[in-house]
Amino acid sequence: MQNLLSDITKKIEQFIPTGCSIAKIEAEGPDIILYIDDIEKFYAVDNPVKDIANALKKKIIVRAAPQLLMKPDEAKETISKLIQAEAGVNEIRFSPEFHEVWIEAYKPGLVIGKGGTTLKEIIKSTGWAPKVLRTPTLPSEVVKSIRSTMLKEAELRKKFLLKTGKRIFSNVEKTSWIKITALGGFKEVGRSCIFLETSNDKIVLDAGLKFEATDTAKDFYPYVSTLNIPFDEINAIVLSHSHLDHCGFIPYFFAMGYEGPIYCTPPSRDLMALLTFDYIKVMKKQGLTPLYEEKDVRKALLHCITRDFGEVTDISPEIKLTLHNSGHILGSSVVHLHISDGLHNLVYSGDLKFSHTKLLNPAVNTFPRVETLILESTYGGKEDFHHPRPQAEEKVIKIVTETIAKGGKVLIPVFSVGRSQDIMLVFEEFARRNPDKANFKVYIDGMILEASAIHTVYPEYLKDSLQRMILSGKSPFESPIFEVVKGNRQEVIDGEPCVILAPSGMMTGGPSVEYFKALAGDPKNSIIFVGFNTNYSLGRKIQKGEKEVAIVGEDGRLETIQVKLRVETAEGFSGHSDRRQLTNYVKSMKPKPSLVLIDHGEPKKCEELAHSLSRLLGIDVRAPMDLDSIRLK
Ligand SMILES: [Zn+2]
Ligand SMILES: [Zn+2]
Repeated sequence: MQNLLSDITKKIEQFIPTGCSIAKIEAEGPDIILYIDDIEKFYAVDNPVKDIANALKKKIIVRAAPQLLMKPDEAKETISKLIQAEAGVNEIRFSPEFHEVWIEAYKPGLVIGKGGTTLKEIIKSTGWAPKVLRTPTLPSEVVKSIRSTMLKEAELRKKFLLKTGKRIFSNVEKTSWIKITALGGFKEVGRSCIFLETSNDKIVLDAGLKFEATDTAKDFYPYVSTLNIPFDEINAIVLSHSHLDHCGFIPYFFAMGYEGPIYCTPPSRDLMALLTFDYIKVMKKQGLTPLYEEKDVRKALLHCITRDFGEVTDISPEIKLTLHNSGHILGSSVVHLHISDGLHNLVYSGDLKFSHTKLLNPAVNTFPRVETLILESTYGGKEDFHHPRPQAEEKVIKIVTETIAKGGKVLIPVFSVGRSQDIMLVFEEFARRNPDKANFKVYIDGMILEASAIHTVYPEYLKDSLQRMILSGKSPFESPIFEVVKGNRQEVIDGEPCVILAPSGMMTGGPSVEYFKALAGDPKNSIIFVGFNTNYSLGRKIQKGEKEVAIVGEDGRLETIQVKLRVETAEGFSGHSDRRQLTNYVKSMKPKPSLVLIDHGEPKKCEELAHSLSRLLGIDVRAPMDLDSIRLK
């Protein structure tokens, strides 16, 4: 550690303007923190931070030395005067451990000022380093509680970051081998988990849960016990995105003594909080013991080191991580790992959408280097061709208008994160363009509202057009066509013809099942599937056309439900690529990988995709099973 950080200090000193000096230099996780003695003089030069960051290829954070910090009350007053009223500041809080002032506003751009001028003024005049946060346009409990926890537990977080920094900037011998082991999500959908190992590092990529009625409970979790190592020997967890099949097992690591970092995008952190807290709630409601408690989720959140797309980050002495958009849900990433000075470059697709949706831009497939690609195959089977998006949208609107005209109701089971916002945008656009025809309400139930609120905190992660709408104060998620169900579902069930968006998407539980039970017996009603259903899920059974399904009732007894409503599927909405898009993703990938490993698909689909890709591209494509290990170098 001494060596690397002192080398870095020497390099940085060349950029420090004359007249000021570095009081202290620290590594907080992958970030280099400079404490500057004379902050006025430091900022007298154009942009020293940018020059230093460029030269070092690291994130540089500048803070004033402790004696320069103004008293918080005074500082608050000064800051309020420096920021224009239009910025909509609604909270100013201080984090003494980090010499930071957190400014929450509706228009962060106006707090920052042109070229960051206001921010510079704030640190120059108060000593506090400003951190600007966006206030969601819809109130979000999750965002509020994460921000408060981060401030409250700053001391703990600081300690963890310093410890992590120490490891990242330590000297190690170059590794001569790289190995990955499939711990979950290979030849199956669910419990995604990959273990990446070198002689220096032990890194986990995703750790999810599986939700399927299979024979034994152990099939719900990744095979971490086969690693035979204590969890505190793991150096880092990288999270591609926050669906439970990728993040649901992560708090368990913390329950078992892991205290290292989770690298992910800021929205992934927030959505992980939303979904894992809900997982605990659902388990308890069913009288089951969850794998971990709320305190473990909070611990996981405190250990998140968030990164935006495209930021190259040292996550260990030898491994650099970059997250890129994967087009699947808010904040979802393709993970790029540059290992041991380019000895190997690994790309892990996470869940992938290689085409435009209403919500997101298509997945990135250009990288500086790639040798191995791990690719999902949810819809990689021979017959998996989705309709184009516009056709799928038309289909939904057609079924909805037909059903409403007959006096029926339409149930659309959706994942609360991702598909629900995508479908909401379809109805928002329909209502905006056809005010005369949009004579029905679209009810949103479960966590959809909270998930949508989180979307409004991160407009920069959304598609450009959507970003513009949110930034100009016209968030489509607040269209008058939407009505939030606040508790009383029976009123919706007994009420006027309408559309109901409710989780869970695969009908493995949640409000969608409750609505289904009430609506299934009436042929006037419809159900539309817009997302993925695993083989044994209730959703799949209904989708396949079963006329009678058994559902566990509130009292734990099986209830038989007659399926008389109209059952439809609109495939083009999936947040996953279909076979053609997956093929195009690899075909147009720059540069071409030499090895492709297929995961995240039913066995047949993994094999079919592996076979066709290897024939088409003439490269080594394999479909490993859980517990297979592959030496990459
Ligand atoms: Zn996903
Ligand atoms: Zn997934």
